[in-house]
Amino acid sequence: MPAAYGNYINGKWITKGSRGTFENRSPADPSDVIGVFPESGQEEVEAAVRAAREAFAAWSRTPAPKRADYLRRVGDLLTRHKDEIARIATREMGKILTETRGDVQEGIDCAYYYSGEGRRLFGQTVPTELPNKFGMSIRRSIGVAGLITPWNFPLAIPTWKSFPALVCGNTLVLKPAEDSPATAVKLMEVFEEAGVPKGVVNLVHGDGPNTGAALVRSEQVGVVSFTGSSVTGREIAKLCGGSLKRCSLELGGKNAQIVMEDADLDLALEGALWGAFGTTGQRCTATSRLIVHKKVAGEFTARLVEAAKKLKLGNGLEDSTQVGPLVNKSQQARVANYCKIGV
Ligand code: NAP
Repeated sequence: MPAAYGNYINGKWITKGSRGTFENRSPADPSDVIGVFPESGQEEVEAAVRAAREAFAAWSRTPAPKRADYLRRVGDLLTRHKDEIARIATREMGKILTETRGDVQEGIDCAYYYSGEGRRLFGQTVPTELPNKFGMSIRRSIGVAGLITPWNFPLAIPTWKSFPALVCGNTLVLKPAEDSPATAVKLMEVFEEAGVPKGVVNLVHGDGPNTGAALVRSEQVGVVSFTGSSVTGREIAKLCGGSLKRCSLELGGKNAQIVMEDADLDLALEGALWGAFGTTGQRCTATSRLIVHKKVAGEFTARLVEAAKKLKLGNGLEDSTQVGPLVNKSQQARVANYCKIGV
């Protein structure tokens, strides 16, 4: 029996989903079922948002340096569980262990960075032209943050969004990608172990068009932070615009590396290889185009092709693997089509 994982709502793990369940299988080995997760809908989103809304009053009044203490503990716990989290991330989304360890490290660094911010949430005093008046600004929490994240940095991206939201006194509901739900569960377990009060952080599994969209539409959500494709980003921006909800979008890229005639070709080659094939090319920061000076184009292309052929593909859990699998079948078809277009 595969493990049954739950939503995390108001400090409780709930495995039942109003729209059933979904399975999460390893892209490197489809017989490896990582677990079964609730397919949530409006009902779970509303429950999670309600819990976050209720927890907001006390959390936003907790002094910022105290909120920061929780994040410091979260950083310590992520450090302790780093390898375990990296392994589950590799199993569920494919990239090699060196990279998922780096992914968790980003979360650790982010925890310590934002715990420092808890002592720096300064406001401003402003000279005013009016007599007997004092001008100042303070930072106020917004309320409930709705966070929607992709699978390619399954630990780091949820931390980039949740840690700053928390230190600033907001509570949150996270909807991770259906391709990386187990890593999000690990993050919630870490919050739980760090003693973050119930309702402050909530996790709802499910697909984007239903669960994700319900979170964006919720009237009780004051700010949405989304990382993913530009197509979805546009939809989310429209929904947020309709209700003048604050919205932060990190979307796709089509990055070019420029190699000039006087470039150090060894260095440029290493950059191109890592940039193009790291995370099996599935990064917003991936080097998806090369612009090479015609004087070195022949030599550079030959060396790049030779180096790319030598890369060892395989299961990301094996130490000798340099490039893991693409995350799922539809991504595989999409990349194959890009190759066709490229040719
Ligand atoms: P995606 O389809 O937009 O999915 C991203 C997230 O949004 C997932 O959790 C997805 O849920 C959810 N979602 C999908 N449709 C939705 C909707 N209508 N309403 C609300 N939520 C919805 O993106 P992807 O192609 O899987 O992710 C990779 C993309 O992220 C790439 O374009 C990459 O360049 C970009 N990215 C950007 C950054 C950055 O910092 N700028 C970092 C990493 C990745 P489900 O998948 O569960 O359905």
